[in-house]
Amino acid sequence: MKTADCLNHMAPYLFAQIDKKRNALKEQGIDVISLGIGDPDMPTPAHIVDAMKTALDKPENHQYPDYSGSLAYRSACAQWMKNRFGVDLDPKTEVLGLIGSKEGIAHLHTAFVNPGDWVLAPSIGYPVYSGGATLQSAETYFMPMRAEQGFLADFDNIPEEVLSRAKIMFLGYPNNPTGALATEEYFDKAIDFCIEHDILLAHDNAYSEICFDGYLAPSILERPRARECCIEFFSLSKAYNMTGWRIAFACGNAEAVAALGTVKNNLDSGQFNAIQDAAITALTAPQTCISEMCALYQRRRDLVVDALRAIGMECIAPKATIYIWTRVPEGETSESFATRLLEKAHVIVTPGSGYGPDGEGFIRISLTTPDDRLLEAVRRIKENM
Ligand SMILES: *Cc1c(COP(=O)(O)O)cnc(C)c1O
Repeated sequence: MKTADCLNHMAPYLFAQIDKKRNALKEQGIDVISLGIGDPDMPTPAHIVDAMKTALDKPENHQYPDYSGSLAYRSACAQWMKNRFGVDLDPKTEVLGLIGSKEGIAHLHTAFVNPGDWVLAPSIGYPVYSGGATLQSAETYFMPMRAEQGFLADFDNIPEEVLSRAKIMFLGYPNNPTGALATEEYFDKAIDFCIEHDILLAHDNAYSEICFDGYLAPSILERPRARECCIEFFSLSKAYNMTGWRIAFACGNAEAVAALGTVKNNLDSGQFNAIQDAAITALTAPQTCISEMCALYQRRRDLVVDALRAIGMECIAPKATIYIWTRVPEGETSESFATRLLEKAHVIVTPGSGYGPDGEGFIRISLTTPDDRLLEAVRRIKENM
């Protein structure tokens, strides 16, 4: 039996190594607190769960769903984009239902990338941007991301031989893991660049709803020329505590939406209709659950930032996302510091190097841990470092 060559080039999955160490400590009876994974700890809001219960009882929901997502779901997505960002979308041609945005992001490569092509990915980012390229036997060019430039991926110095075969540029702001925000000028510059070089700009907006201190994240589709080259991914996972439900959508440029739809027609049969119905409720009901969630994360953010400062680590309080991104102390690497936190404080954080080349020298702390455990983790960090 011989697996495909591209599988041999896949990087080991980021969290696998950490899980191994955690399990070893747990076997010794040690209480380990994980601030590693970005999976909301709060339940899905009750009105969404109730909508699912009602939807389950409808026999028409038990059959194959529409490939692109039900028109009702796509219409709710379009209406939500209009209410939230003022962006007008045709639900029939500019919105596509997804079984989680991870699936959509991974399959976008199948729709656009040939073997030997290049994908432009941020050098600190969600691993699927480059993983999807590897699965297509394509190459990834990592756009530098530096703290001094506000972690805005730099596409100014891409070599000509890469640029001539570049098919997709991935960006995602508010950014996982750095918490960085994009400016309107940056989005416009990226859009102009992608139009000039005939590149699809894929914007991953997984964290648009998790904002603090009065900040409200934009959609890239608000920008004037975005429709010419952009597809945007929005996920209900983080916004409505629905990671396990696997529901998201892609929207924007109709040609890109159709191409992704063609790939998906051949691979899956759409998300369960009852889940789409529950998602309609999430998108159309009053959005108070979002402001409550943001207040919770903002309080946790302040706790963690305070704890890090107490042990002498300077860090910036992010205005969005569920992560604190902070530089490791002098003389440490991402790995060595994460290992020290695990072994001394029994607290798991993610080494920044796992997100790409420019992540070295940083760690990511996730705020998706119940308050009492987060306080305990913070206490341990303060006392044991
Ligand atoms: C969580 C996350 C996703 C995946 O969301 P799903 O819709 O649950 O697949 C995509 N992009 C980023 C940056 C994320 O952090």
